Amino acid sequence: MHTPLCRHASGEPSDYARRAVAIGLTEIGFSDHSPMRQDDFDDWRMRADQLNEYVEKVRKAQKDFPQLTIRLALEVDYLPGHEGWIRELAARHPWDYFIGSVHYVSDSWAVDNPNKLSEWKNRDAWEVWSVYFERLTKAAETGFFEIIGHADLPKKFGHIPSRDCRPLYEKFLKAAKKHNCAVELNTAGLRKDCREIYPSREILQLAFQKGVPITFGSDAHAPEEVGANFAEAIHLAREVGYQECCRFEQRKRRLVSF
Ligand SMILES: [Zn+2]
Ligand SMILES: [Zn+2]
Repeated sequence: MHTPLCRHASGEPSDYARRAVAIGLTEIGFSDHSPMRQDDFDDWRMRADQLNEYVEKVRKAQKDFPQLTIRLALEVDYLPGHEGWIRELAARHPWDYFIGSVHYVSDSWAVDNPNKLSEWKNRDAWEVWSVYFERLTKAAETGFFEIIGHADLPKKFGHIPSRDCRPLYEKFLKAAKKHNCAVELNTAGLRKDCREIYPSREILQLAFQKGVPITFGSDAHAPEEVGANFAEAIHLAREVGYQECCRFEQRKRRLVSF
């Protein structure tokens, strides 16, 4: 879940927590978009000097809602060459987990940015998906991340290659298994053009076969999105065969049945 510091979400952490309590959730986590070393890298994340403010906002929600477990996390962008910065971020606060996400297939293009949707016209879908999954595989291999976020994000606007993507998925999931990354069932996809949970059933089935564990996330950017479509996500996970999901505290994984 996000906070207004990323400049494209609304509501304070306490508002999200209030909603979580109202719908009966017992544990939530904040994982706002990590800052970049250079604040002018893009315009949809907190500045580096706002990281302490972010942590304070989450701590306030923890104080306001002692009956709810609230985890402190970050959704960290993985780009090749950013490893040193990610290590620095990891050392700054006692995070419960890091979600590793790939949004960028180059320094200038995040595939999910609605303001850069026209860039898809200049690109071949297979090439974008190949670069994306190559980066996602590398992200898993860094060992920095407990969870890999929205694993098939390039489907957001419906740009799906006609070629079989299974080899890309296989390689990524092999790395996820080897480096103890969970894959997130992210219901935000249901709110986008693709109208589908991230990742697809096909990827989830492969993940289950390989023994890659899962988490549930609504990727809420507003309080009313907290826990959105979780019944659907749980149904999908059960159909594929999952009976347990992960929780994280101080970067340690625990499996719980659902
Ligand atoms: Zn966001
Ligand atoms: Zn994301």
